[in-house]
Amino acid sequence: MTNPFLAPSTLPYGMPPFADITDDDYRPAFEIGMQEHLDEIRAITVKRDVPTFENTLIPLEKAGQTLERVATVFFNKVSADGNDATAALEEEIAPLLAAHSDAIRLDSQLYWRIKTIHDQLDELGLDDESRYLVERYYAEFTIAGAGLDDTEKEKLRDFNQQLSTLTTRFEKNLLADTNDLAIVIEDAADLAGLEPGEISAAAEAAKDRGLDGKYLVTLVLPTGHPWLSSLTDRGVRERIMTASRSRGNRGGEWDTNQLVLDITRLRAERARLLGFASHADWVIADETAKNPGNVAAMLDKLAIPAARNAKTEQADLEAQAGHPIEAHDWAFYSEKVRQAKYDVDTAQMRPYFEAERVLQSGVFYAATKLYGITFTERDDIPAYHPDVRVFEVKNEDGSPVGLYTLDLYTRDSKRGGAWMNSLISQSQLLGHPVVVTNNLNVPKPAVGEPTLLTYDEVNTFFHEFGHALHGLFARVTYPKFAGTNTFRDFVEFPSQVNEMWMLWPEVLENYAVHYQTGEPMPKEFVEKIQASSAFNEGFATSEYLAAALLDQAWHTITADDSVTDVAAFEAAALAKVGLDNPAVPTRYSSTYFQHVMSTSAYDAGYYSYIWSEVLDADTVEWFKSNGGLTRENGDRFRSRLLGVGGSKDPLEAFRDFRGRDADIQPLLDRRGLN
Ligand SMILES: [Zn+2]
Repeated sequence: MTNPFLAPSTLPYGMPPFADITDDDYRPAFEIGMQEHLDEIRAITVKRDVPTFENTLIPLEKAGQTLERVATVFFNKVSADGNDATAALEEEIAPLLAAHSDAIRLDSQLYWRIKTIHDQLDELGLDDESRYLVERYYAEFTIAGAGLDDTEKEKLRDFNQQLSTLTTRFEKNLLADTNDLAIVIEDAADLAGLEPGEISAAAEAAKDRGLDGKYLVTLVLPTGHPWLSSLTDRGVRERIMTASRSRGNRGGEWDTNQLVLDITRLRAERARLLGFASHADWVIADETAKNPGNVAAMLDKLAIPAARNAKTEQADLEAQAGHPIEAHDWAFYSEKVRQAKYDVDTAQMRPYFEAERVLQSGVFYAATKLYGITFTERDDIPAYHPDVRVFEVKNEDGSPVGLYTLDLYTRDSKRGGAWMNSLISQSQLLGHPVVVTNNLNVPKPAVGEPTLLTYDEVNTFFHEFGHALHGLFARVTYPKFAGTNTFRDFVEFPSQVNEMWMLWPEVLENYAVHYQTGEPMPKEFVEKIQASSAFNEGFATSEYLAAALLDQAWHTITADDSVTDVAAFEAAALAKVGLDNPAVPTRYSSTYFQHVMSTSAYDAGYYSYIWSEVLDADTVEWFKSNGGLTRENGDRFRSRLLGVGGSKDPLEAFRDFRGRDADIQPLLDRRGLN
């Protein structure tokens, strides 16, 4: 038997040959794939010829295909249908892959060739996409440190090593402290307000720790806890909030203060070694925002109105409560006000969200209206799990777009959350078509029962399908630019935009029909949702912005700054932007800001969520003022934005689509921040 990863698939659309793949095939394919990739790179650098686009960039883009094939299928498997064997292999293979990509990105010979080509870029007469390819490679290699001399590279490895140890320790300490801080409740009466299922979960959690007969409230990230909105005992709420905010900040074994100082200082020193003023300058150089100044300008525009609105909301809550509102009261009273003022109960909407109808008459229907594409189920093409459905997507004229596969249901072997990934990434250079997958985690109903989605699940469905369209529509030459291979602060934009069609009247009427009676969903359900859409946004925006600004503050320190007191630094950073209202604590405090102090890779990038939402809100505004759900609008969005994938500067593509740079006003309107 030959290993199925060693040759390109012969199935329609290059679908990986899942029926032939076994768990034993991954490891040898990874080993062969990495070696082959290094050999291909060596074949480029070993030559003594003058570096050209043809003899360097083209073979570089063609290199590593076996590795690409196995990695794509393996990481899809690990997240969507993993087992003990794949989990063990992942742990083993992850550091090898990191070292493999470092070996290439820090290769001095390869860097010299790329730099030589980049230095004469204007004289080469390359087409736009090829030119951008050179620019991207040059930027990525430079930012990674390929241009450093050997002593400096040694230092860089040392920084990386130390940071890897410290960030891992941060995660470990945080997890341990979070567990230690779980709150023991002696009497069930103290948990009044919770659902019976939540109380029994708390009893179960206590039992797991040998505390039979008691109740345990375990902490979660971020600062807020989901039970704070329903627990009626103010003292218990306060205990939870206090414990939550003290994580990593209690002295002793699991304290993270020194780790925060060491991690941010080392990152600043590493940035200096790499030629950047700060860690944020280094990270954001490779994002669409380009520099921390642009990020600060955007966040600052939002901070003042968000803090002001939170104050107004606080006054409303105080009127309801009859006493001053503290951090541990906010969720409880805002839930009361929400119910009194808007009477929104999304649970009533479920019978109108039958999954198959949402898919065919909602998600697909909107895409057909916008882009003219059609979907045909292909039972003859096997996927990686029997639950996965495969659809062939075609243009209006019948020409192929690609395959869309949908893995809707939750199962023990699947990770939580929802996501999109590519099984085959389109590229002209390699002659690759495109296959994309959406994963959701909808509980499977009993046999014979319909799958009724929640409001949030429908929203997630439209969101993930937006990523899928981005992957399906990209038509690029180079594999590097395929589909969703774009910047972190841009990649959520197309998916956020696609959410707008969920409640678009023409789409909603078409799919939101009662699964038993066939009645359309009452209009007031949606009207209530829309009326309440800006409710509590002052709070939500403030707590998010506080965290995003804190992330920027920690990562714009320079190697010459010396910060010695985490709490004082945090307080000063928040006061400076007016986000220091004690009733609205930051979504994460420094000592438990896992996104940016660990290996999660959102360091200096926590701003991304709202950065792409600015583009999203402005685009939604454009669709609305141009007639909404029309082929003309869809074609423009597809050809100027989705279709270009990562093959040009995303903000340039946005400008081309929108006719100007993004305006922040629609986001301010959406969040009621005017
Ligand atoms: Zn997303």
